[in-house]
Amino acid sequence: MLPRAFITSVVGSWPRPKWLLEAFERREAGLIDDETLKIYMDDAARLAIKDQEEAGIDVVTDGEQRRTSFVAFVGQKLKGFKIVKAEELHPEAREIMKRHKAPLTIWRPVISGYIEDSVIAADEAQFAKAVASKPIKVTLPSPYLIMWESWHSKISAPYYPRPEDAAEAYAKVLRREISRLIDAGVAFIQLDEPMLGDLLEATENEPDRYKKVASEIYGQKYRGLKDEIRLAVDLVNEVVQGYETSVRIGMHLDRWPTEDSPVVGYEKLAPTIFDVKVRQYVVEYKAPRMGDPVEFAKILPSDKEIGLGSVDVRDHKRVETPEEIVAHVERIVKYVDPTRIWLNPDCGFAPGQFRAFPRDVARAKLKAMVEAARRLREKYWWA
Ligand SMILES: [Zn+2]
Repeated sequence: MLPRAFITSVVGSWPRPKWLLEAFERREAGLIDDETLKIYMDDAARLAIKDQEEAGIDVVTDGEQRRTSFVAFVGQKLKGFKIVKAEELHPEAREIMKRHKAPLTIWRPVISGYIEDSVIAADEAQFAKAVASKPIKVTLPSPYLIMWESWHSKISAPYYPRPEDAAEAYAKVLRREISRLIDAGVAFIQLDEPMLGDLLEATENEPDRYKKVASEIYGQKYRGLKDEIRLAVDLVNEVVQGYETSVRIGMHLDRWPTEDSPVVGYEKLAPTIFDVKVRQYVVEYKAPRMGDPVEFAKILPSDKEIGLGSVDVRDHKRVETPEEIVAHVERIVKYVDPTRIWLNPDCGFAPGQFRAFPRDVARAKLKAMVEAARRLREKYWWA
């Protein structure tokens, strides 16, 4: 049973144990087979779930332990993609990322054929469901994200002349995957939309950092802010249409601000962002320069939930105190009913395999968040 108010969850990824990363390398080098790697991945998923359950999290994930990155794994699972090093797409890929301060993963998915339906995450979900004693959340990359991260003007165009065509094809596969995830008994399906979140730093005529990088490396053209938001929202609606009442569906937005990013929050994407037929916005709001969640909360429609970013996933030097998290969440209680407020970290702790975050610090952050939720429930007992 979930608590009525201030439910806690995670965004998705959890720090991968060192032995799992070593097993990935040994598989890459042909020293172990898929079956052996699977034993490592199963154990890592068990550990990730146990860490979250021991911290007291209400809705848990498998920590994305089997995925080398939150985007590239789709390319490993679906026909129609291949995974290449960024340099194969553009010889100066790394310099381009540095210049724009927008590090995309080095192993890149690229659409190199027709996208065919196949299991993306239902296998992971079945395992997690069997192991966990709490309800499960599963994350999936959104069509808009996959379009920006994997449509290439030369390699993909013979199959999908326009990026939008590829996004539509992937959206169709996602619809089938959602149906499989519902059958697997998943409680929460989250579509990851960092490319939409990044638009906070874009203007009508100038793309944000990440789209500048994607444009230079993949050759896709920016459509202007209004049309980009509209396209992302329409694509998600194609995916979720008809499923809204069968399962809780959320959308995760982030942008990982830099020290020269503008101070702004997700209210910038309104009103179009509220046309999306998902129940929850899982939003980064603890990172510096993320603006004031009050601005978003004030205009949040009354049938929507907010999964409020309450601990910073980049700062591993400091663990937030429960008092601090309570104060952060209380800022929006005036505008959003406590039953519609969820607490989560800003983002996954390790969206890609090369992102290191100390597990003990991640655990401490979750514990602080769970304690904050407990105090909030006590204070807002009437909710
Ligand atoms: Zn994120």
